[in-house]
Amino acid sequence: MQVAFDDYVWAAGVATELVNTTTEVWRGDDHLPDLAALVAFTDLHGDGAGALSELARRARGLHAVHALRTTVRDLIDHPDRDHLITGATTLTSPAQGTTLIPDPGHENRTRWAAPLRDGATIADALSLICGIGILGVVHTLGEQRFRPCGAPTCRGAFIDTTRPGRRRYCMPGLCGNRINVANHRARQAATRIDSE
Ligand SMILES: [Zn+2]
Repeated sequence: MQVAFDDYVWAAGVATELVNTTTEVWRGDDHLPDLAALVAFTDLHGDGAGALSELARRARGLHAVHALRTTVRDLIDHPDRDHLITGATTLTSPAQGTTLIPDPGHENRTRWAAPLRDGATIADALSLICGIGILGVVHTLGEQRFRPCGAPTCRGAFIDTTRPGRRRYCMPGLCGNRINVANHRARQAATRIDSE
């Protein structure tokens, strides 16, 4: 498989999803506990062509994926530009050079891409994706896009690839709702106190 450099938004999204599967974020419950969960993760967040899922189905590299989560999380937690560039460059080491691949959207046009070296594992593939995602975001959007989740009770983190750059939560549907529910309860409690 190859990772196109202009797919950095997708790649950064995979990095965000990956770091938010840990026991730290889910309070002791690992969301990537085994290879079946890893296959499901790649089916959900993969490249569309199924190349990532295929690598996950080869059933090796789970420990390396767990180690990768820690590395990527450390980069998001310390978003110094040089640190991000150095760390993400190391993550791209499973690439074998740089190439051009056909652009599916435009006949006779090409895209810059990094091909994965032969014999690479799912951990190598995810490492390359995270590396390109981080480098693409630093290059295009800046290092202020690497942030902890804004929900006070959440230990998640994310890379914000939205155009305005005002994303607040690691899992917007979940963490945003937690805040809304908490605010709603606080308002109800305040109303009860007022009316007593
Ligand atoms: Zn969160």
